[in-house]
Amino acid sequence: MTGIIFDIKEMAVHDGPGIRTTVFLKGCPLRCVWCHNPEGLSPKPQLMYKKASCIGCAQCMKKCEHEDCKAFGRCIHSCPENCLEVTGKYVDSKELADELKRQVEILGDSFGGFTFSGGEPLAQPAFLFALLEELKEYHLCVETCGYADADVFQKMIEKLDFVIMDIKIADSQRHRAYTGVPNEKILENFSLLKSSKKPYTVRTPQIPGITDTKENLDAIQKIIGDSRWERLPFNEMAGAKYEMLGLDYKMQNEK
Ligand code: SF4
Ligand code: SF4
Repeated sequence: MTGIIFDIKEMAVHDGPGIRTTVFLKGCPLRCVWCHNPEGLSPKPQLMYKKASCIGCAQCMKKCEHEDCKAFGRCIHSCPENCLEVTGKYVDSKELADELKRQVEILGDSFGGFTFSGGEPLAQPAFLFALLEELKEYHLCVETCGYADADVFQKMIEKLDFVIMDIKIADSQRHRAYTGVPNEKILENFSLLKSSKKPYTVRTPQIPGITDTKENLDAIQKIIGDSRWERLPFNEMAGAKYEMLGLDYKMQNEK
């Protein structure tokens, strides 16, 4: 099964229990205005361009038949200033799982497990499930925004040891305004998670004036009850990545 990923982070300590290896799957159905992983939004490989280092030599405008360059219609390897970088690579689930298993041998007893993040891992359900099957002898966790069909979400819960799920905004209209989708589906999936026997953590990013208002936090507290709840600080470092991808960083307009 082929899927697309944009990063693998080793020795992760905030992505589930213990020291973990986190795989970032590319593609997300949401468009949170604060998203700090904009390279995870599109389900396709993308070119990242460091405009500030570009000397305008036009080497990169030459046509190139190299496998890496074909999708972009120009050479991405000839830049003398290393201004161009591709984010996103297609991988086979079995080959990726075999590569991940080899790392476990290096980490030995200190290894906590594998976490799948994104983007949104459930945006590639068949690929995610193939990976979970290949790695089922290990402790498995997913970081999810919860926006998926209920049958897919339920199947995911059953295949995992631990779930990290975002509840970002309690009011559905505000959720749509700031993430691009309403939250009913997410809250229904949260009910499935809450009534399952699987351990989980709820996460809320603390976005000034959007998610961190008293009204929103009180409303989320009501939804999640006594669930374990982490409130994550706002990551303000994403602006440069938006520029490299040629995307508009909407948080700049929110300030
Ligand atoms: S090759 Fe590099 S430095 Fe030259 S124009 Fe392209 S991006 Fe700019
Ligand atoms: S759910 Fe996560 S990856 Fe998707 S847009 Fe929101 S912050 Fe970004």
